[in-house]
Amino acid sequence: MQAVRSVVKRMWFVLESKQKIPHENKGMETMNLGLVSNHIRETSFTHSQNNSLFADLKPPLTDADAFVEAYRCLECGGPYAEAPCTVSCPANVDIPGFVSAIARGDNFSAAETIYAENILGSSCARVCPVEMLCEGSCVLEEEGRRPVDIGRLQRYATDIALKNGYRHKKATKTNSKNISVIGAGPAGLSCAAELARKGYKVTVYDERKDFGGLVRYAIAPYRIVNNPLPEETAMIADLGVQFNMQTPIDTKEKLKKITEESDAVFLGIGLGQDVDVNYPGEDLPGVWQSLDFIEAIKTGNLPKVGHKVAVIGGGNTAIDVAREAARLGAKEVTMIYRRTEAEMPAYPHEIVEAREEGIHFQFLTNPIRFIGDARLEAMECHYMRLGEPDSSGRPHPEKVSGTEFKIPVDTVIKAIGQQKRKTFLSWIDNLEDDWGLIKIDQKTGQTTNQKYFAGGDALNGGATVVEAIRDGKTAANGIDQYLKGNA
Ligand code: SF4
Repeated sequence: MQAVRSVVKRMWFVLESKQKIPHENKGMETMNLGLVSNHIRETSFTHSQNNSLFADLKPPLTDADAFVEAYRCLECGGPYAEAPCTVSCPANVDIPGFVSAIARGDNFSAAETIYAENILGSSCARVCPVEMLCEGSCVLEEEGRRPVDIGRLQRYATDIALKNGYRHKKATKTNSKNISVIGAGPAGLSCAAELARKGYKVTVYDERKDFGGLVRYAIAPYRIVNNPLPEETAMIADLGVQFNMQTPIDTKEKLKKITEESDAVFLGIGLGQDVDVNYPGEDLPGVWQSLDFIEAIKTGNLPKVGHKVAVIGGGNTAIDVAREAARLGAKEVTMIYRRTEAEMPAYPHEIVEAREEGIHFQFLTNPIRFIGDARLEAMECHYMRLGEPDSSGRPHPEKVSGTEFKIPVDTVIKAIGQQKRKTFLSWIDNLEDDWGLIKIDQKTGQTTNQKYFAGGDALNGGATVVEAIRDGKTAANGIDQYLKGNA
């Protein structure tokens, strides 16, 4: 059966790539292939044409779309080499495995394959930059064809599984070792789930009311609203993980206490509040920090942005808030960045999509102060030029004197980055860090204090959700080895 499906797929591959599928004077089977091929072309959009506030950037697939899309996959890879898409997935999900399960109509098995490697498979399906990861490596692109829509297939399989009461398999044998996980973001949830699957007693601590860390609070709602995080976290709790929410570990004494009660501690503490550069006038109504802005939208307290919005920053969060500001009704949204487009940390495809949505970019520009009486009315800026490379390796932006100018604005959102948690790290003896980013053994996630392991944004200053998932898994395996005396 597998061989027959594979032969049909190869035939389809040739037909689709040559686009030789006339409808007239053909037998029933050929005509069906033609209809299906048209269907492929019709469903080949990658992001939503609906720009309303909570509309999905990548809408869900229908049953028919999912079947057709899954059938396009060539099921690359084999015993000697993994498929390129799987190699590019930080969580190492068996992509051809789950896609072929969808093509067989076995969504439960597809979800099981996804969740075996990525405990937040449904959330990641919504927020992963697939263009830079699995889909960016799909071999179909080498033929000049659209890559398999892996992200939306992952969402399709996991959504169906969640709707039908899917649950993870529990550990068959438990042990008496206690592990504390600080932070209920993706790294913490991943580490907690993997350890619970291995039979450990795991307790998660987080200062927030809800799970998910930045997935819940800082990723724009056009990528993910709250669902499916509650369902995915409930499944982790069902594995036996104890959640202590609204329980900040915010003093040295509290950290010492949970460390003494634990056999190992995982630090999934992420980063802190937005970096604040204290521009004069930033207390004016209309000036926002990016995290507060996204949280306000996600919690239903929609900001009134007015007509003209400026977003300060050049990263993916800056792009997210700019696109959300446009969805909130702003007529003109401009991103203000102190370097040029070539140095922007945002993903190139995100910049392209933002431009397509009408977002403007003003490069080599830096704000000086915000101006207004009762509310923000304008922003004063000056021009910059690029100098020698700084510690980030990028050209250092330098002020060009005498170039001050004013831009009328109703709202400014600062998306400059987040602060490192240096105070927290100072409470742990012998813990080495690099400018506030925790140093670990890459193979085990263990820090320089052997009782502590770490993962996620606290290591790298902010990367993808799926990389945090990978870090959580690495550390869970590292903790397991350490407690078994193998590390
Ligand atoms: Fe399928 Fe593309 Fe992955 Fe090959 S690289 S297995 S075609 S998704």
